[in-house]
Amino acid sequence: MLIVNNNFDIIIAGGGILGVSISFWLSKVTDSKILLIDNNSSIASGTSNLNSGMVEAPFFYDPSTKTIFGESVCRSRKLWRELQVAYKLPWKEVGSLEIALDDESLGVIEKHERWAKSYCPDEEYKVIDTDSLKTIEPKLKAKGAILSYKDAATDYKSLTQVLGTLASHNGVLFLLDAEVVSISEGDNFVEIKILTNGSVHTYTATRFINATGGGALSLANSMGLAHELAEIFIGSYYWKVSDAAGSMFNHHIFSISKYSSQYPFLEPYLAVRVDGTREIGPKPFLVGSHSYRDYGGALDFFASMLKRPIKPKIKLIGNKEFLSMVYNISGNIFSEEAILNKVQTFIPYMKRDFLTGRHKSGKRNIIIGKNGIMHPTAIVKTERTLHIFQYFEPGATGTPSFSSLIAKYLINKWGLRKKTAELDQTIWGFEFASELPIGYLENLLINS
Ligand SMILES: Cc1cc2nc3c(=O)[nH]c(=O)nc-3n(C[C@H](O)[C@H](O)[C@H](O)COP(=O)(O)OP(=O)(O)OC[C@H]3O[C@@H](n4cnc5c(N)ncnc54)[C@H](O)[C@@H]3O)c2cc1C
Repeated sequence: MLIVNNNFDIIIAGGGILGVSISFWLSKVTDSKILLIDNNSSIASGTSNLNSGMVEAPFFYDPSTKTIFGESVCRSRKLWRELQVAYKLPWKEVGSLEIALDDESLGVIEKHERWAKSYCPDEEYKVIDTDSLKTIEPKLKAKGAILSYKDAATDYKSLTQVLGTLASHNGVLFLLDAEVVSISEGDNFVEIKILTNGSVHTYTATRFINATGGGALSLANSMGLAHELAEIFIGSYYWKVSDAAGSMFNHHIFSISKYSSQYPFLEPYLAVRVDGTREIGPKPFLVGSHSYRDYGGALDFFASMLKRPIKPKIKLIGNKEFLSMVYNISGNIFSEEAILNKVQTFIPYMKRDFLTGRHKSGKRNIIIGKNGIMHPTAIVKTERTLHIFQYFEPGATGTPSFSSLIAKYLINKWGLRKKTAELDQTIWGFEFASELPIGYLENLLINS
């Protein structure tokens, strides 16, 4: 369906959990006329759907550099719970265990407990020893663990769809099955070209927000931004654990490893899904693009490495951190042995026969700048546009609060007109969600 009047105050590209949440907040607290565009036929069809559905604790966020993520997660857990209860959405409180497999990692879990408590003093976390661990997860073998009682399993697509409905009640218009193909910024407006039903249409807006997940960098490139950044894409396989062996674990389980803090996606974890099934993954593999229509594979990956800009990629050839990551990923391409071996170090009872139903899941993009691999999440702002790259921290869990901080930042920077009173005061207060200093968000800005 095409919108007749195509001038908007704000156009948001990307109908994942991030774009929809931003549209919700901006429509709740400002007078802006907003259009949200996504290239799928329903919202939250990308990574926001194909994730593990875990509502996580802020274990990995070092307060010296990542306070914004830890604080966002903590506030957001409360906001998600509020939404879930109000709309009776899928939710299963399973708890999670971050386990230490060696003495060195025991120190790490203690540190993670301190970090999590510093963000969420009223949540319950506990460091437990091997014996206590045996009483709650008898099949698990570890030196110790941190237990986060309130971590949950949910369905982020359902949560996002409810938010989308609320945003639509607040006046946001949705244009689906429409691909934003290019953006150009003028003195007074932004021109947005959209491909829908085989033809290109032009929309204009005073401001534009790029929340297209893995598509964000190429869209920013279309307006001449961020050309010095390159990216690679990583897909992932997960397995269902057979019903017979399903009760082998009842919490989400993560192990500490050398990659945990930087590349948690390289380490296998066990997730309890909201429907009660159990899942193990990821087994990462290299792909050529962010698109889910064509999942791609190693050949597409190598073709994508030849795409411009090549310079940052060439530099990576001498980058040990990158090479060890690619080696780790590509070394695993052909067998599930590697993941099984890893999981067996902490669940010796796990067998290959228990792994059924291998399926592809969410993709990640990794952005490479002149100083090597950039860590999530980065923002580029121009006079009239805002672009969010590699939005994997604070993840789906932390999105309600993180997106409200983006809204607060834009109200401030773009001088958006605030409503005299927030719409629908029964759900999600803006003050609480966005109470963090704007400076936290400004730390994520990169010059481009
Ligand atoms: C495998 C995996 C598991 C994860 N598990 C968890 C978890 O258990 N818990 C957790 O908290 N977080 C998890 N995460 C992180 C979390 O899912 C992401 O941080 C979050 O979903 C990102 O949301 P997004 O809106 O930025 O991106 P997306 O959900 O990808 O949304 C972007 C949207 O933009 C659309 N789009 C792209 N280009 C265009 C274009 N040009 N025009 C129009 N539309 C476009 C896409 O199709 C998509 O619908 C996981 C991530 C991955 C990869």
